[in-house]
Amino acid sequence: MRAVVIHAPKDLRIDSFPDSAPAAGQVRVQIANGGICGSDLHYYHHGGFGTVRIQQPMALGHEIAGVVAAVGAGATELAEGMRVAVNPSLPCGHCAYCREGLRNQCLDMRFMGSAMCNPHVQGGFREFVTVEASQVVPIAPTLSLAEAAMAEPLSVCLHAAHQSGSLLGKRVLVTGCGPIGALSVLVARYGGAAEIVVTDIADAPLAFAKKLGASHALNVAHEPAALEPWRAGKGTFDVLFEASGNQAALRSALDVMRPGGVIVQLGLGGEMTLPLNTLVTKELQLRGTFRFDREFALALKLMGEGLIDVKPLITASLPFEQAVAAFELASDRAQSMKVQLTF
Ligand code: ZN
Repeated sequence: MRAVVIHAPKDLRIDSFPDSAPAAGQVRVQIANGGICGSDLHYYHHGGFGTVRIQQPMALGHEIAGVVAAVGAGATELAEGMRVAVNPSLPCGHCAYCREGLRNQCLDMRFMGSAMCNPHVQGGFREFVTVEASQVVPIAPTLSLAEAAMAEPLSVCLHAAHQSGSLLGKRVLVTGCGPIGALSVLVARYGGAAEIVVTDIADAPLAFAKKLGASHALNVAHEPAALEPWRAGKGTFDVLFEASGNQAALRSALDVMRPGGVIVQLGLGGEMTLPLNTLVTKELQLRGTFRFDREFALALKLMGEGLIDVKPLITASLPFEQAVAAFELASDRAQSMKVQLTF
């Protein structure tokens, strides 16, 4: 079979790739759609992010869906021909965190298309993947495989909403409007937010956010004081989803958060300097959020029932043979929200 493999920065190839039949408890899935994520783009442009670097060629991709092609012994709940989403995370199931139910914090997490461990865990941008049956979730007949491949990033945002607590009637700020910021808008709407304000430094994603139901979409590069109306008193936002990983975005948001407000940090941003006294005196709560767990099945359920519609986010689909063109397109924020490969 063939796979989309990163060898070095800007060296993305279509390689032949070893195939494997499913062992007991495993399932082989013929991949149909794979979404290009920000981390895939980091591997493509820079060979990694932070201290994580590719050490050997690695198939990219972890937002994938397809059709069951073969079922190993014992995976009785699955059958050939089933349409499924593939959960790219495989926690060990027996470390201290897994036993506590904190599976996204697993000490031995195997996450597809990640160079965090060595040898790397190969990703899902290939014609077939063989995975544990526990990683495969059948999807509703109403759901396309393209939508099913959005389950992973949607799960990330649902997990973030679990960190924030109830959004019902809340005033929500989303900083950064890539796919994660845009999906956070959809999750905030679903969660019953009364007002959703989105900021970014580019116009195209902001126009997108408006279409998805944001109350206000503000370009803080053109208009640095755009959040001023929400600064009344000590600030008026109940919840912040920080999806940019940018220090300036987080710092300026601190001034418009109401006392006791909850900041959920989604974006990975390396080291930052923050005015700690603002956090202390306004009793703000800064919370991290990382990947997801049970939210993967929830994402598929919500999409399958039509409660969250991710279709508008998929701005392009290209055959995987054109992966380089697809990665370049995905890097262009003026044109793209989510670009998928088709297999
Ligand atoms: Zn574990």
